Amino acid sequence: MKILCVGRNYAEHAKELNNAVPADPIIFMKPPSAVLRESKPFYIPEFTNEVHYELELIVKICKNGKYIDPAFARNYYDEVSVGIDFTARDIQQKLKNQGHPWEIAKAFDHSAVIGTWLPYTEEKKHSDLTFQLLKNGEPVQSGVQSDMIFGIDQLIAYMSRFFKLQFGDIIFTGTPAGVGPVKIGDHLEGFLGKEKLLHCDVK
Ligand code: ZN
Repeated sequence: MKILCVGRNYAEHAKELNNAVPADPIIFMKPPSAVLRESKPFYIPEFTNEVHYELELIVKICKNGKYIDPAFARNYYDEVSVGIDFTARDIQQKLKNQGHPWEIAKAFDHSAVIGTWLPYTEEKKHSDLTFQLLKNGEPVQSGVQSDMIFGIDQLIAYMSRFFKLQFGDIIFTGTPAGVGPVKIGDHLEGFLGKEKLLHCDVK
């Protein structure tokens, strides 16, 4: 199982970090050891002084595929949830400035919080999914699926040109604007529509 993620998939978020809007999706991966299940606490790692939350729509791959046509990409995922792509922003910034890969800032242990999976029903397929993150009860991020620069089907088609998608793989589809730091004692809650699918205590 692997986790495939996309950077800068919302124009407003690219802007808030002073990044250009990309011509092709920016893809990176997290290993299985990055997974943090539903309600487990997140411990801020010792190597960073600035961990940011990024709430994202996530989907689970249900069928192996390579060179998937965007028109058929929909058949390759059947569950949806929200996840947090925890990012060591200080380390990422330093590595970016040096032109280096930012793996250690993104793929460290427990950096991928996975919410409760829901079936990707016909109804969900035909609606514009919204999602929201509350930090200590206050809304800090709100996303709408239609604001994505590259839609889920396009992302899957693109990713599958380079990486065979396999049953159980998870796709993080990018974060909207509003990312920010967490500190010990924070409580994060992730919603898909009105449904709370994730909560996480920061320790
Ligand atoms: Zn992200």
